[in-house]
Amino acid sequence: MHDSTPAQPFWRTTALADMTNEQWEALCDGCGKCCLNKYEDEDTGGMQYTNVACRLLDHQSCQCADYPDRAAQVADCITLTPEHLRKPAWLPETCAYRLLAEGRPLPRWHHLRCGDPEAVHREGASVRGRVVCESQVEEPLWYLVDWVR
Ligand code: SF4
Ligand code: SF4
Repeated sequence: MHDSTPAQPFWRTTALADMTNEQWEALCDGCGKCCLNKYEDEDTGGMQYTNVACRLLDHQSCQCADYPDRAAQVADCITLTPEHLRKPAWLPETCAYRLLAEGRPLPRWHHLRCGDPEAVHREGASVRGRVVCESQVEEPLWYLVDWVR
């Protein structure tokens, strides 16, 4: 009997720039970290993240409350494309797009590997319950956080 199951999953065989829109969207692990206020460190060029979330981020699901219209709703929301991954270090360490752009594997808890979208939260790799809304803080710069994972 012929087995049509691919030998390798798509994220190992398909370059980021060649992915379909569906594959591209599926890569997101739903951590919510890219929806936090962040600052570029002038000395290192690295990105300093805060625990201050965009006003549209749902703190429990870690999803955008208006994903289809996000660019119109929030002026500085970045719609991620392969172009942004030429220098991916501005994204969080665990971001699936950054990992693949740097030639690293997806973690065990990524939903594409384990099949469970809740695993990212159980593993403590998301921002669930650990952020404040930008509408409630005076100065996001006072809330710098090292998101170790
Ligand atoms: S940091 Fe990356 S994986 Fe996490 S929500 Fe943002 S785009 Fe998705
Ligand atoms: S508009 Fe939505 S996708 Fe964009 S930063 Fe805010 S919560 Fe994230």
